[in-house]
Amino acid sequence: MAKSSESVVRIMPAEEIIARGSGEPDLFIWPNRASLFAERSMRLKQLARQPGAISAYLGLMAELAQAQHLALADLPEVPMPDEAALAQSAEHGLPPLAALDWPRDPIWQKILHQLLDYLLAAKMRGEQAENIRQLLQRIKEMPSVELEVQADQLLAGSVSGVDLAAAPFIGAALQVYWAHMLCSSPAIRADEQYQKVKLSEQTTCPCCGSLPTTSMVHSFGGMAGQRYVACSLCGVQWHMPRIRCTRCLHEDGVEYMSLASPDVADEDYQTPAVLAETCPECKTYLKIIHTEREPFAEPIADELANIQLDVLMGEGEYYKHGINLLLLFAQDPTEQSDETVGATPS
Ligand SMILES: [Zn+2]
Ligand SMILES: [Zn+2]
Repeated sequence: MAKSSESVVRIMPAEEIIARGSGEPDLFIWPNRASLFAERSMRLKQLARQPGAISAYLGLMAELAQAQHLALADLPEVPMPDEAALAQSAEHGLPPLAALDWPRDPIWQKILHQLLDYLLAAKMRGEQAENIRQLLQRIKEMPSVELEVQADQLLAGSVSGVDLAAAPFIGAALQVYWAHMLCSSPAIRADEQYQKVKLSEQTTCPCCGSLPTTSMVHSFGGMAGQRYVACSLCGVQWHMPRIRCTRCLHEDGVEYMSLASPDVADEDYQTPAVLAETCPECKTYLKIIHTEREPFAEPIADELANIQLDVLMGEGEYYKHGINLLLLFAQDPTEQSDETVGATPS
């Protein structure tokens, strides 16, 4: 990959939203217990087969997603917000399963151990196999209190104090726990719960308050051409029309950048499926994935696999907005504004 910033091409913000003939698009795409992590695992396996510096890591994350799938399939009931709590959050337009406030059930740590045991039992090859095994073992031995502290920090969207090597596994367990709650409660998935929420201006997840991982332009059914923002934690995607910065909602001057540069002589040139949506106002970017160019794309997997785009954007003037729990970057806090990574612009 060419690392010079010349290889970043500005793609005209001409992604006009195709007028939909059939009414309003769905407000949400809800995670599905049977497919959320299974599809992610399948996609990660596919991506891991492509040559690249992180293919071995993608392979490990594919195994982790498979372990998440198995864990999510077999969880007992957990405490959920009661009717009064749901009414309260609906009334104030607040996330019903707020990641920062929700009293986590200890089951999430059981899930974590289940994920670790699955990976420890899997046959790992490659030169990193022993290092990974040691890492998994180290997380297994972490005291429960420390795991809670790590979870708090991770859910706050902060990287300071976070054990970066352990974070993907702790994050994966939290994803299973939050997806489980969301999948278990029709009341939380009801549109009425979000009547006071202006979804198109929602810069953090309406269900759990977490940062997004990426956004997706879908190509199927009534959602064709519509953009949804994908939550990093609970797995929901919420509708947000383009073209608009997903962090500060600024609309003018939003531009799209990609790794490949169109060769004028190349008639077969195709715009890549994964672009960086950049905002001139808040100087951040979030990846945007076009499924009509990559039908098997999955938000968490494809965001992760396109890490070269982060490398390239990191050389420019933009900071990454959003978080992928499967791989955290140690950001220099002096490079960030005085807001934390998870801060919502007012
Ligand atoms: Zn969420
Ligand atoms: Zn912005």
